[in-house]
Amino acid sequence: LALLTLPACAPSDGAAATPAASGKGTPAPVADAGAGAPGIGDADFPLDGNGGYDVGHYDVTIGYTPATKHLDGVTTIDATATQPLSRFNLDLRGLEVSEVTVDGAKAGFDRRRDELVITPATALAKGARFTVKVTYAGEPKPVKDPSNLGTYGFIPTTDGAFVASEPSGSKTWFPNNDHPADKATFDFRITVPRGLTALANGELTGKTAAPGGRTTFTWRETHPMVTYLATATLGKFELRQGRTAGGIPNLAAVDPAYHDALGKLYRVSGEVTDYWSKVFGPYPFSATGGVVDNFSAGYALENQTKPMYGGFDPDTSIIAHELAHQWFGDSVSIERWKDLWLNEGFATYAEWLWSEHTGGATAEAMFRRQYAAKNDPIWKYPPGRAKPGDLFNQSVYRRGAMTLQVLRRAVGDETFFKLLRTWVADHKYGNATTPEFIALAERLSGKQLDTLFDAWLFQPSRPEV
Ligand code: ZN
Repeated sequence: LALLTLPACAPSDGAAATPAASGKGTPAPVADAGAGAPGIGDADFPLDGNGGYDVGHYDVTIGYTPATKHLDGVTTIDATATQPLSRFNLDLRGLEVSEVTVDGAKAGFDRRRDELVITPATALAKGARFTVKVTYAGEPKPVKDPSNLGTYGFIPTTDGAFVASEPSGSKTWFPNNDHPADKATFDFRITVPRGLTALANGELTGKTAAPGGRTTFTWRETHPMVTYLATATLGKFELRQGRTAGGIPNLAAVDPAYHDALGKLYRVSGEVTDYWSKVFGPYPFSATGGVVDNFSAGYALENQTKPMYGGFDPDTSIIAHELAHQWFGDSVSIERWKDLWLNEGFATYAEWLWSEHTGGATAEAMFRRQYAAKNDPIWKYPPGRAKPGDLFNQSVYRRGAMTLQVLRRAVGDETFFKLLRTWVADHKYGNATTPEFIALAERLSGKQLDTLFDAWLFQPSRPEV
């Protein structure tokens, strides 16, 4: 389901280069014609995702033992070749691969940094549908980012694992095409010691006893999902399940240390999901809820159908933020990381809308408060161009949200909310870019909005209002 049509990037670390291609500036030799690029084409992250194919479905089967931190995995991927492929890559970080098959036949494979380079026994034709099966094992190691991302990916906890992978940590626990431009459906089969619960995306389809006193949880996400939103969070959890007033299945789960947070998490998640369904359009997924685990991540993540809160009892505002992401980020996903304000600016604006809805400060008041801070570093950072080394800068959140308030003023409430709903409907389960949002805003309002968007999204200075 990749919608990305950016040109494939050149291998920058020799990941897919043959010896003959190592000379700088030499055109790729003919023998390389069938190699999928080691990156999907996001210039800011040249090795994230891969070129040459489009994943339709992942079947992620894992067994995890918290006591030893050992993971056994088999990931089966259904994909379509978008070019002839003599070779292609998956993203995988750490872990040991024991076998790879393509359409049931043993394939050659090689590890180069976080790239798993696969050579099928027979080359794949353009348009061919194929199945890759990767068998692997080891101790997953989360990514520890020295800048502002903290720890992400598959993170061991005292009783299990906290799995939150934005931006590119899903490769720490299963091989995949790790970039939001390639969305796919998922099946999860997660086996854990008896007494533990495994939480993945979508709906629980089974809970069965497994050999060795273990339990297997199966989950199915039937709506396309980006890889960073996949989770397999496991450990001791207290659960509360039911439906929202609007009828959406609702599941809240908390680590026993957060026992007192369960009731509120369940109730507020339900109320917010129902309210956003009125404001943004029908809830795009089959379930809602939230998970609080005892890992102090320093962030929350909008995992599809199951936002996760890392080591804190979330207040209503952050629940409103993570659930707004189900529309902005999860259903409508970015195609390249530089457009991240389409996720974070919108989810932050949703916090302001929730405040307005519940009788707190209006979005306009929130805007004014932020705008008054003349020396805020957000004025130097244009939010419409998230920087690879500082993706989640406060500007992407707060100046992104301010952009929407300025837009609301310019086009009026009726057009503004129609725009949000049309955006969500037009790109449901797909990918979108900032120029597409600007074009839609201009079309629905009949106004020329270039100056507004340029000043708010792209200039390194505080715009005049
Ligand atoms: Zn967010």
